[in-house]
Amino acid sequence: MSKAFDFTPKAVPAVRTRFRRITTPIPAPDSLEILETMRRHEPANMLGQPPILWDRADGVQVYDRFGNMWLDWSSGVLVANAGHGSKEIRDAILTTVERGLLHTFCFPNAERIELARALSAVAPEGLSKTFLLTTGSETIECAVKLMRTHGQRVGGVRKIGIVSFEGDFHGRTLGAQMVGGIPALKEWIVNLDPDMHQVPFPDGFRCRDASFDGFLRALQAKEVGPDRVAGVVMETFQGGSAGFAPAPYIQAMVAWCRAHDILITFDEVQAGFGRSGKFFAFEHYGVVPDLICCGKGISSSLPLSAVLGRPELLDQYGPADLTNTHGGNPVCAAAALASLKKILNEKLVANARVAGGILHEGLARIAATHRDVIGAVMGRGLVAGLHMVRRGGVEPDGELAFAVVEKALHKGLLMFAPVGLGAATVKICPPLTITEDAVLDGLAALGEAIAEAVAEGGCA
Ligand code: PMP
Repeated sequence: MSKAFDFTPKAVPAVRTRFRRITTPIPAPDSLEILETMRRHEPANMLGQPPILWDRADGVQVYDRFGNMWLDWSSGVLVANAGHGSKEIRDAILTTVERGLLHTFCFPNAERIELARALSAVAPEGLSKTFLLTTGSETIECAVKLMRTHGQRVGGVRKIGIVSFEGDFHGRTLGAQMVGGIPALKEWIVNLDPDMHQVPFPDGFRCRDASFDGFLRALQAKEVGPDRVAGVVMETFQGGSAGFAPAPYIQAMVAWCRAHDILITFDEVQAGFGRSGKFFAFEHYGVVPDLICCGKGISSSLPLSAVLGRPELLDQYGPADLTNTHGGNPVCAAAALASLKKILNEKLVANARVAGGILHEGLARIAATHRDVIGAVMGRGLVAGLHMVRRGGVEPDGELAFAVVEKALHKGLLMFAPVGLGAATVKICPPLTITEDAVLDGLAALGEAIAEAVAEGGCA
């Protein structure tokens, strides 16, 4: 079980910078009544994040109503790519709401159709169809269905295997968990699908062998030949680590898939929409997948997700054979269109590259200072993972990662609870609107938080 944050207010030194302001104990004493109501009426699984009561969010800033302001390095959970609460997105939502259009199911609505067109325009050539859904998990379920359907068409009933990667996270629904590569998350399922197989994710740290041979060897060991594989699904970078695979590995994988009529899906639910300094993170690999799963940063706000792909894959199900009650909701679609325009017009992908360069330089400096407890820094652009380890080794140190996030919170720097193996990865993912000044301000807070957590023995 992950660690819960303490609800006892802790007196912390006041903080006042351009981007951070802490004026009360944390959590704010005046928020306790609501936090206790949360504890009474929401399930325990909702208690995993730092107990600050979000009241308002604007750009890279999150505010409570008690005078505190955080510099947000979470983007919620990699959602607010175009910044929190942007005027363009709010206006688009309001315009749709004021017209009185809140829901249309699969009946046509102009916002949904325009969004599908706009997404095709940013996708690689040929991936001209978009199926809009609501959550990231649903896009994985849908991609698995499309890949298996295709597999059976081209290779018969045995060509239904789905290959995915150890450590990958694809969501919490049944299929998404089975495709996911975290065994503990699927213990409850017991009778796992025997045609879903995981191979090591070649991040170069937890998995030192980053050659494509590792992929082939893992499948051979499971006695799975390509004739029994319909598709490969991969988190373009791993959410739990922010780790990327080497481009030659991915290129070899794509060639292997093409040679055996196997489809490739990149799960860009958190990697897409500029996060890594490319519009889609798979662009770093120089390849084009068959299907792209999108979510989170697609709207920077309201719930929306999408599967993008070539017509012959997306058209496998006929009229009304693949439906979704809320997918392409006009208000959510309007928000996503406004978010996409903002990302493109304000060149936020380039900003992710530039601001991300400054972030990663700063993180490298911090890691050099704490070489014995920061095992690796992964990520590109505006996503990073600091892998906290037990002193001098590689064993994940979740206690230390937790202490870093908590101390940063007290300093006005907001990150979500640590993720990944042993919950030991401190994940950094600010809105893509972040400026150099804000990156440097956050790095200063993070450096202090790590130094204090280490000095106080948050680590073994
Ligand atoms: N894929 C990835 C890579 C994700 O990070 C997530 C959510 N963290 C999902 C899928 C599932 O998305 P959702 O929670 O919207 O179902």
